[in-house]
Amino acid sequence: MGKTKSEVSVSSVLAYARCPKLFEFLNYSGIKPRQNDNYYLLRGVEVSKFIRNLYQKHPGNRKFYYYSIETAIKRWYAVWDIATKVSSKALSFDAKKVAKEQSKIGAVCIKNYWVQNLDSPDPLRIKKIVYVVPIKYDGLPYTYLSGKLDHIVPSDISWIKTMRPEIIEKGELIKGYSHNLVVKYSTSTMDSVFKEKRAPSTILPDELKIQAAMNVMLYKQQFGTYPVGYLIYWLRYESDNQFLIKGDLKEYRDLLDRVFQRMAKSITDHNFRKNLTPSCAYCDYVFQCRPEIVKQLSLPFT
Ligand code: SF4
Repeated sequence: MGKTKSEVSVSSVLAYARCPKLFEFLNYSGIKPRQNDNYYLLRGVEVSKFIRNLYQKHPGNRKFYYYSIETAIKRWYAVWDIATKVSSKALSFDAKKVAKEQSKIGAVCIKNYWVQNLDSPDPLRIKKIVYVVPIKYDGLPYTYLSGKLDHIVPSDISWIKTMRPEIIEKGELIKGYSHNLVVKYSTSTMDSVFKEKRAPSTILPDELKIQAAMNVMLYKQQFGTYPVGYLIYWLRYESDNQFLIKGDLKEYRDLLDRVFQRMAKSITDHNFRKNLTPSCAYCDYVFQCRPEIVKQLSLPFT
């Protein structure tokens, strides 16, 4: 939840969209999510932080904070070691094994980022800033949506021409748009829906559409223009690993409006239904919510 009771965070809205019961657990049960051994989540958080830190100020005449990719990777393993120790006081044998696997995945992501961005313009640095945007829905006890725009990256006009020709006029961006992208770095494997991402009919999951719509809303509120889009960047791949979502599309905003309306009704009625899907295996509340399936789980995370 956001800073005040009148704020709902982007992650809370995403949790509701995934499963209303999960939203209830997070906001009304008083039970903390299990996080101590969630190294898959920790991997994403730490890699994202590490990428930001690559742009720390330094006296040298080089792009990144570290001298070389080798130094960066060495530092990554040290950072990961600290992060896992902080997140869990005593690692079991199994947890150690998982943590080690995740550290290697993190190293691959950082290496790919380094290689792919050595010649790119620096991102705008907006570290740790929470933005808010007003929202108003009957029955919803929140009046603001809050969230962080983790990475904002400038994009090139020729790339925009290819990716979003509809926002170009006479070789320039149309009024109301900026050259920037809101970027989500993912350390997961690419979802099968994106394998055919060049196909014009790629059907995006609703979760990504509302995520893109929320990030665009936050950006617009802050900067007064629309970004070129919301870019998902899969760091585990060496190439062909980016997908642009046009988060300003009305259909995505309408979808988000429907999520807020359903959320308002659930809160008013105190009725949060369970959304039983295979992804319950990844849920922090699976022990409380679906004890019947816990024994069958071997946690096939990637
Ligand atoms: S275990 Fe499944 S149904 Fe229960 S809260 Fe989590 S996602 Fe929802």
